[in-house]
Amino acid sequence: MKSQKIIVIGSSNMDMVVKTDHIPVPGETVLSGSFFMNAGGKGANQAVAVARLGGEVSFISKMGNDVFGKQFSQLFSDEGIDIRYIVSDDDLPSGVALITVDKAGENSIVVASGANANLKPQDIGDDARKKMGEAAILLMQLEIPMETVEFAARHASSYGVKVILNPAPVNTLTTELLSHIDIITPNQTEAEMISGIRVTDIESAKQAAKAICEKGVSSVVVTMGARGSVIYHNQTFSVVPAPVVEAIDTTAAGDVFNGALAVALSEGQELPAAVDFANRAAAISVTRLGAQQSIPYRNELIAERLNVRM
Ligand code: ADP
Repeated sequence: MKSQKIIVIGSSNMDMVVKTDHIPVPGETVLSGSFFMNAGGKGANQAVAVARLGGEVSFISKMGNDVFGKQFSQLFSDEGIDIRYIVSDDDLPSGVALITVDKAGENSIVVASGANANLKPQDIGDDARKKMGEAAILLMQLEIPMETVEFAARHASSYGVKVILNPAPVNTLTTELLSHIDIITPNQTEAEMISGIRVTDIESAKQAAKAICEKGVSSVVVTMGARGSVIYHNQTFSVVPAPVVEAIDTTAAGDVFNGALAVALSEGQELPAAVDFANRAAAISVTRLGAQQSIPYRNELIAERLNVRM
């Protein structure tokens, strides 16, 4: 079933990964390693998740006028994502993440945001603004300039579009921005930073969720990894357990969660049911290596029988 339209605004990065014996110290050259590239960036991961899980999605992003920018556009349209509102930056290159992973799985990462840091409100043209006003859901993260997130949230909410903010990586959120957010989806660390309450378990996550809600957001969903998610909505808490799986790589779990949440809500599911759908999609992704390649398709969710820890 095709859902109503979802707009994702956010980053695209090319992850360039070298696996090596050890991570070099400053000045050292390590001559051993294997190299691979993966498309990533929270915005792109979430847009791909929406598309694979059956949502109809337009992705607004900015990328360099370079080889990665061209690869991204091809990749996104192959996924069935509407790329008409993607803009090309003539000055800055596409975002890249340089990642070194050692044999213990420890990593060191440098991100050059490039064009992502240059996605301005004026890059969202008249057609894109109109499309946004007609959408069911706007989904954003914080790897693009805050002024753009603030503009889009204000614009979409003025048309009654449901705005979901995944506050990652965490940043200071103004009261005005929070007032335009319908659902905020911090993980444990982000919930702690936004609320000022230390989050160690379900009880403290509930307190943090309530405190974030009191800052002016309608609903809060704190994702708690293997423990699932805590919802604070209509002054009521609910805890939605995650399926028990053997996790091998949690990269992009949060992105799959957010994309899936948007799809389920756009299909009219209530928040607890939508969070359950999102937990199940994210749980499948943690059983697989990588970011975008670990994102499941809708039919896999239907086929999968996952145990839910009660
Ligand atoms: P992030 O990846 O943003 O840090 P979390 O670690 O909270 O966020 O994970 C997001 C969601 O992914 C969780 O709410 C859960 O649904 C799923 N998830 C993450 N880790 C596991 C796990 N080990 N087992 C099952 N589900 C998981």
